[in-house]
Amino acid sequence: MSKIIIPVLEPSLGKEEIKNVLTALKSGWISSKGEYISYFEKDFAKYLGAKYGVTVCNGTAALHLALTALGIKYGDEVIVPNLTFIATPNAVKYCGAKPVLVDVAQNSWCINPNKIEEKITNNTKAIIVVHLYGYACDMKAILKIAKKHNLYVVEDCAESLGAEYHGKKLGVFGDIGCFSFYGNKVITTGEGGMCVTNSRNLSEKMKILRDHGMNPQKKYWHDIVGFNYRMTNIEAAIGLAQIKKINNFISKKRQINEWYKQNLKSILDKKLISFINEDANTKSVFWLNVFLIEKKFGLVSWVLAEKLMKRGIETRPVFFPIHIMPPYKKKDENFIVSKILQEKGLCLPSSVNLTQKQVIYICDEIKKLLKNNG
Ligand SMILES: *Cc1c(COP(=O)(O)O)cnc(C)c1O
Repeated sequence: MSKIIIPVLEPSLGKEEIKNVLTALKSGWISSKGEYISYFEKDFAKYLGAKYGVTVCNGTAALHLALTALGIKYGDEVIVPNLTFIATPNAVKYCGAKPVLVDVAQNSWCINPNKIEEKITNNTKAIIVVHLYGYACDMKAILKIAKKHNLYVVEDCAESLGAEYHGKKLGVFGDIGCFSFYGNKVITTGEGGMCVTNSRNLSEKMKILRDHGMNPQKKYWHDIVGFNYRMTNIEAAIGLAQIKKINNFISKKRQINEWYKQNLKSILDKKLISFINEDANTKSVFWLNVFLIEKKFGLVSWVLAEKLMKRGIETRPVFFPIHIMPPYKKKDENFIVSKILQEKGLCLPSSVNLTQKQVIYICDEIKKLLKNNG
């Protein structure tokens, strides 16, 4: 088994995807016109309980499109969590605006609502919340702050498609929800993304902006500067097949998390490691199974990662906090929680295709490494 690499995440594609792609190819509609685009947008929005879906070419474009549609521009400030994938603050920069970093909460790994208000100024226009690793942010607290200060809320749901907060799917709590369909996300289209909203006005704005700012009534007439952020019909064909499988994907991901917890119970009970808490009233999709390795475990996260790799088990480090990256460097501020989570955290294989046998193998190897280390 040691030669077989268990990847951290791999897509789950089947004959439905192949069939749709062939239909799209044979139809000749291989760019961004074609029926799969609207089918996928409709099915996706319906699944979330949103009114409108707007497909785009990737999740980063989804964030940039959302912020542009909300009018975020030079001089504005946008609140962003300090622990996220780099695309979140980058999208703010693309607008010429300033990302203002807020530390995350230890329990949810998501933006800490108690630390948002101290960062709000007269220039603050929006908050981007990131539902990290499949877990929901504390939306009630965040929406309350946003309402009080008249701020837009954008949800970065790239890692949390299908996750729930008080029985409602994430992505519809703020003004716009943004999703990614990169190969390792909950569903994939290869590259791809989606914005969802309940505002007809915003959805129309986003459709114009993603298509060069072209006036929908007058071909080659451009009232505004737009982008080419369109998804292809081939990608949408894959997406349509994927979204039909979403419930199975999520059940399997939740099952995998259960398997990890069962098979690591002995070291969880001893508090040598811990998983992220799934808050009451939330439902995680466990996009990645992340755990924290405590000092008394005896191995730091990157050493454990190297040792697991030698046994054919791929892992991933947690995102580096944004405030230590060169473009966003902040020396005068400490973001203790994101720093600790990065140092102690490790992401375990979490693909939908994972078998119980593989999870048991991974857990056994982790426990063996612990024993060998005293
Ligand atoms: C993947 C991801 C993105 C970007 O999506 P792409 O499709 O790769 O552009 C944005 N935010 C978060 C939190 C992500 O995980």
